[in-house]
Parts: sequence; structure tokens; C-alpha cells
Amino acid sequence: MVVVGAGLAGAHTAARLRERGWAGPVTLVGAETHPPYDRPPLSKELLLGTAERADLDVDFAALGVELALGRTATGLRVDARVLETDAGPVPYDHLVLATGAGPVTLPGTGELARVHTLRTLDDARRLRPVLAAGGSVVAVGAGWIGAEVATAARASGCRVTVVEAGHQPLAGALPAEVTAPMRRWYADAGAELRTGSPVTAVREGEVELADGTVVGADAVLVGVGSRPATGWLAGSGVALAADGSVAADAALRASAPGVWAVGDCASYPAARYGGRRLLIHHWDNAMTGPATVAAGILGDEAVHDPVPYFWSEQFGRYVAHAGLRGPSDALLWRGDPGDPGWTALWLGEGGALKAFLAVDRPRDLSQGRRLLERGAALDPGRAADPSVPLKAA
Ligand code: FAD
Repeated sequence: MVVVGAGLAGAHTAARLRERGWAGPVTLVGAETHPPYDRPPLSKELLLGTAERADLDVDFAALGVELALGRTATGLRVDARVLETDAGPVPYDHLVLATGAGPVTLPGTGELARVHTLRTLDDARRLRPVLAAGGSVVAVGAGWIGAEVATAARASGCRVTVVEAGHQPLAGALPAEVTAPMRRWYADAGAELRTGSPVTAVREGEVELADGTVVGADAVLVGVGSRPATGWLAGSGVALAADGSVAADAALRASAPGVWAVGDCASYPAARYGGRRLLIHHWDNAMTGPATVAAGILGDEAVHDPVPYFWSEQFGRYVAHAGLRGPSDALLWRGDPGDPGWTALWLGEGGALKAFLAVDRPRDLSQGRRLLERGAALDPGRAADPSVPLKAA
């Protein structure tokens, strides 16, 4: 058993296989030299300086999992069942692809010492002292990472400008009507948010916008999304989707015999959404997929079909989203977005709950996730009242 990618999904696949009784050798091959760690703390505790490490709570030695770290997969020969790595070939009977995603970069920024992305522990350790020095920081992109870095940078006393091509924060992820209230979060935290003017150039120490503005910065953080880390699979015969993800089936099986894919590198047809192919770059998806892969390898047909869920911690708020919105779903406010806590609900036909965004509303989060699981319908009048629990109609 070879698992390639020693991140959240890879590490938990190894653990789930052992739990289910896989007795043969398991090798976890990972490009990074650090023991497997969790990424959400990188843009939170590690940047704030309240934690130094984020190791996963998995005892690989006790599980009898061999860690082959600092070793990068470079290719795959599916007929011979051999994984090629920079330290030589690794034969397998079963191979799990769990190489995650890499940050999208902007042209010409690769060599610039003061331009950062944030995906790895090394990235966080490079960025932390910059924030701790309290200079000026520009975040390119007001997405999840941009907002969390801005939060940590303001908490460290930095001057912060966030530049976003869209007209609101989180423009790519959520409709403007729910993200418009978030502008105030930036302002209240003392971060300047400039929207609607794309970045045209990033140079050492400055960012230029399409409207001609040049914003100077001691450090620039580029947070404009991530792409599946699957370039090394080109030409291997493993089918990739147009977005670069490994096109897995509902059991997370890839197109080649004995090959599976899980986490940020894999897309799958979601049964609860009519077979729509989803590529999800969030923790919960990478955490739940491994159980499906382990079951499948051990011969129990399982299906990966979670209700998509993620959270973010920004500007002192806990922001959580669950479900999947359709274009015709109706937005229902539960609470006023000017209040400290509120929830936006999206209801489909017959009042069926399709998705929600909960800001500092932990009960709505747990009740809402249960309702989504059940495909429950809500009574809109009652659901709009934040003083009563969220309940099925
Ligand atoms: P990864 O964790 O990326 O692990 C993949 C591993 O494979 C990496 O170690 C990589 O080095 C290795 N690899 C890549 N290519 C190769 C190769 N060719 N050979 C060998 N190894 C290779 N999600 C949330 O829901 N909430 C959050 O608050 C949140 N915060 C986040 C903050 C940050 C800074 C980041 C980067 C992500 C955050 N996420 C969050 C997303 C979440 O962490 C990811 O969805 C999750 O880590 C995906 O796990 P994975 O195992 O698929 O990929």
C-alpha cells in the first residue's frame, strides 16, 4: 500500500486502513520533510505566533506506517504499478493519490523574496517574522486566506491593505448580498480593503492595480486560490478533470487499476447533488474521504458524499458554510448582518434547506448541518427568527 502526499488526507488514509485491518505494509510518501501536519492553523495560530507546530495527532510508528518524507512523486507507470519518485521507483499493489493542492501564483513573482504564498509550514514560518516585525502588508485576494492573513497581520500591528478584483470580499465564493456586510469587518479591524480593480503587476515591495494605483508593502501575500497538485500525473493514464483534479468515481477510485484519490487533489460525482462533480478544497472533505478509500480498498463498497462544509476564522469571527447553493435558491436572513452573529440560509423548492453561512452562530451551525444531512425543509417564517432553534418544518 503506497499513499502519496503526506498531508491530512494521506495521513488519515493510512490510519483508516490500519483501523479497518489492513495488515500489509503501508508507505506514506511526502514531498515535505516535516512530519504530517494540519494546515488550518498555518493562517491562524502559527501566523499569530500562538503556536509553533500543527502536527497531526496520528502515531505513525504505532500504526506501522513507514514515512518516506522529503520524497517527491514524479510520475506513475500504471501498467507496471510503479510510482516514480525523485529517490527511485516505488512499486505498489494499491496507490492512493493524496497530493493536495498548490497555491495559484501570479506571473513573475516566483523569485521575489518579499512575495509570499501560504500553503506549507515553511511558508507560514517565512511569513510569521514579517508580520511580527509590524511593517506593511498587502494581501492580494480577499478570499479565505487573504482575510485570515489580514486578521493575523492586523493583530500583529501591521499596516494592512487587501486588494480584491471582485466588488466584495469572497467574491468568488459567495453572493455579494451576504459578503457586502463583511466589508465592515475589514474597516473595523483597521485593514484597508480595495475592491473592483484587479492587480496588474506584483513587484518587489509593491502591487500595481488596473486603475493605476500602486500600493507599497514590506510583504505581499498572494492568496488567489489553489489548484490540484497533479501536474506530475500528466501522461500517466490517470484521468484528470478539466480543473486538473484526479477525476475519481463516487468511491474515490481513479481511472487506473488499484489507484484511488482523496482530498484536495480529487474531484468526485456527488450523489446528493445529482452526480455533479465536486472539487472541494476544504478540511472536512479531506478528513472524511479517507474512510471511503479505506473501505473500498478492503472490499466494502462505500461512497463519498458528505454535505460540503468549511469554516474560517477572520476578524475575531467564526464563519462557517455548509451545503451547496443553486442559482434559484432563495436567500433568507436569520438575524441582521449588522449584529455580531447572523446566519444566511438558502432555501430551495418547498423550503428545503440547501446551504447556509453562519457567522458566530455555533448552534445554527450544528443544527443546520444536521438539517442539511436529512434534506429537511424549513418554515421560512420561523427560520428567519434567530431567537428560536433551527428546526425542520
Ligand atoms: P494537503 O494538506 O495539501 O497535503 C498534500 C501533501 O502532498 C502536501 O504535504 C504536499 O507537499 C504533498 N505533495 C504534493 N505533491 C507531491 C508529490 N508530487 N509527491 C509527494 N508529495 C506531494 N479548510 C477549512 O475547511 N477551514 C480552514 O480554516 C482552512 N484553513 C486553511 C488554511 C491554510 C493556510 C491552508 C493552506 C488550507 C486551509 N484549509 C482550510 C484547507 C485544508 O487545509 C485542506 O483542504 C487540506 O489540507 C487538504 O488536505 P490534503 O491532504 O488533500 O492536501
